[in-house]
Amino acid sequence: METRQDTRIESLIKAEIRQFGPMDIGRFMTLSLMHYYGTRDPLGSGGDFTTAPEISQLFGEMIGLALADTWMRAGSPEAHLAELGPGRGTLMSDILRATKNVPGFHAALSIHMVETSQTLTRRQKDLLKDYPHVVWHEDTASLPDDRPMMIVANEFFDALPIRQAIMTKAGWQERVVGLDENGALIFGTASIPAALMPQSPAGVNTIIEFSPARDQVFTALCQRVQTQGGCMLLIDYGHDVENATGDTLQAVYKHTHTPVLNLVGEADLTSHVDFRRLKDLAREAGCQVHGTRTQADFLQTLGIMTRLEQLERKNPGCDLRAGVARLVDAQQMGQLFRVLGVSGNQFSSLPGL
Ligand code: SAH
Repeated sequence: METRQDTRIESLIKAEIRQFGPMDIGRFMTLSLMHYYGTRDPLGSGGDFTTAPEISQLFGEMIGLALADTWMRAGSPEAHLAELGPGRGTLMSDILRATKNVPGFHAALSIHMVETSQTLTRRQKDLLKDYPHVVWHEDTASLPDDRPMMIVANEFFDALPIRQAIMTKAGWQERVVGLDENGALIFGTASIPAALMPQSPAGVNTIIEFSPARDQVFTALCQRVQTQGGCMLLIDYGHDVENATGDTLQAVYKHTHTPVLNLVGEADLTSHVDFRRLKDLAREAGCQVHGTRTQADFLQTLGIMTRLEQLERKNPGCDLRAGVARLVDAQQMGQLFRVLGVSGNQFSSLPGL
């Protein structure tokens, strides 16, 4: 049988389990992803996964025009534009390029990038070196609160840790990561904290996901846009249904799904975003909710096909159609990815939603 050397992070996780007992999935994701994002650029064909801004420049261009429109309707105020988890910086770079001729837009903005990975921060700094007024943050907590803030996040919330409740014959338990008799990582169950206990009845083996980390970041940002003004545009894969169930935790390595407990810290870990939950939290924070809509509907309503045809006329032979098709095709990213808009004070309309 093939034996595999534990990665350093896997050894640390096992040591923590030996000392303190099985860990919840949120802790497992936090430790694995800290290592994963801290040690590589995971994007693109040589990495593990590819995202919409890396597939087509039109993704960022459409979002840029939507944000500029929203900003103008809000009265063109001095504002902050923040991106969460900006990867290589491509989305922000496309947003800024597409909006450079919008009168007063760039002059009114200061740009904020929230990124924990040093590797990706370096790439972002390089790509945005021609823009003044860009500030990097390791955490959303240090984002400024003195002006309205427009926030955009593509595939950020899916990377935040989740926890799982599972219905067993003995009732609800929490799904955890422990060690088997050979010292390998294995899923198990443990008693569930009261705060995570689902209220609904369910059949044995039903899994319900929670993300206290996601809820906390999202709620704090909703409160920000509600008090200081602004809006949020989130694009991610996920669902917008009542009482969603099921295990959506997944690991991806070199563009292929792999079992979650293999390749610890070497594969990307994500889960589907529970948009219905986020919508409820946004309303509780006093914000207006727009959407969700599918990525295909959103981009098509913003006119991505017209923009594509314009570019093709201007640059015959340009190679943009396949990328746009990937973003909007129902079989590819068009239906799985959803877009949620949240608006607070002063910002009320969000085009495309
Ligand atoms: N938005 C980019 C990259 C998505 S990958 C794109 O669409 O291409 C997820 C991004 O979130 C990476 O930049 C990763 O480093 C960052 N990230 C993950 N967890 C984070 C956290 N807790 N705080 C800030 N950034 C985080």
